[in-house]
Amino acid sequence: MAMQALYAHAARDLRLAETPAPSPGRGELRIALARGGICGSDLHYFNHGGFGTVRLREPMILGHEVAGHVVELGDEVTGFAVGDLVAVSPSRPCGSCGECLRGLPNHCLNMRFYGSAMPFPHIQGAFRQELVARAAQCVHADGLDPAHAAMAEPLSVALHAVRQAGTLLGQRVLVTGCGPIGVLTILAARRAGAAQIIATDITGPALDHARRAGADLALNTAQDPDALAPYTTGKGTLDVLFECSGAQPALAAGMAALRPRGTIVQLGLSGDMSLPMMMLTAKELNLRGSFRFHEEFAVAVGLMQKGLIDVAPLVTHSYPLADFAAAFAMANDKSQAMKVQLDLTAC
Ligand SMILES: [Zn+2]
Ligand SMILES: [Zn+2]
Repeated sequence: MAMQALYAHAARDLRLAETPAPSPGRGELRIALARGGICGSDLHYFNHGGFGTVRLREPMILGHEVAGHVVELGDEVTGFAVGDLVAVSPSRPCGSCGECLRGLPNHCLNMRFYGSAMPFPHIQGAFRQELVARAAQCVHADGLDPAHAAMAEPLSVALHAVRQAGTLLGQRVLVTGCGPIGVLTILAARRAGAAQIIATDITGPALDHARRAGADLALNTAQDPDALAPYTTGKGTLDVLFECSGAQPALAAGMAALRPRGTIVQLGLSGDMSLPMMMLTAKELNLRGSFRFHEEFAVAVGLMQKGLIDVAPLVTHSYPLADFAAAFAMANDKSQAMKVQLDLTAC
């Protein structure tokens, strides 16, 4: 048996190819994938062949935001049955390196995160019809639409960022950049008790999504670069900035709106941002990075199952795997797309 998988060979060079269907080993599940979301990192490989110093050096299957149905159990698997819908965490830490033992699996030194060209050989991803995964990576997602179950990964990124921020109860929060991660951060921050959430972006449709997700105020900083000026009174008034754009002007404007000892959580990935260091020093701001997630993945699935976070409005487009070219073109169009998914059942 063979199946189709979507390989990135280089920038602007994606190809569907037949690859052998895997069979599950001990402790593993074979999953017929249903949906796979296109993430910013997939777009980087597609548009640029990599990001920062990370380059594609061999064909790599893209994709890491997937959900599907169990079709076969390996030996010694308990707690799963054929037909179960599962969300698959792409996070595969080794469990035995120094960082794993420190309790920081997202910083695993031997991380095998799906669809990553950081290590060589690259870690193959999950835009494929079938996947074999460790049962420990799979979270029961019964009751969810597979399209929503496949949002567990980006939601986990947002939940991890909220955890990095510390308590948000009663806090005034600013989210800069309203792509999928920004909008999911709005949902997660509200769930964590934020009193006021202000969002900024440079496109109208993204701001509409921010409003629908519950932002109290959504400001277009392309139309009005000084939109955050009302929050800069005194030494600034907002408590927490989630910087999700990776854009220098957003970071600088957001920092100016933070109160003394406010907290910046940087999620947006950008190699070339500089930091207004004098502002950081003089306002005694806290700067924290946020990278991936681990245990938040099961939390994300649970929040969606309980109806406490609704990701449905974010999934704006879906294309059969064979139409990957149209899917990636749409994912690149920020004026239309929020989350674009591949339907991995149809080919
Ligand atoms: Zn992702
Ligand atoms: Zn490790």
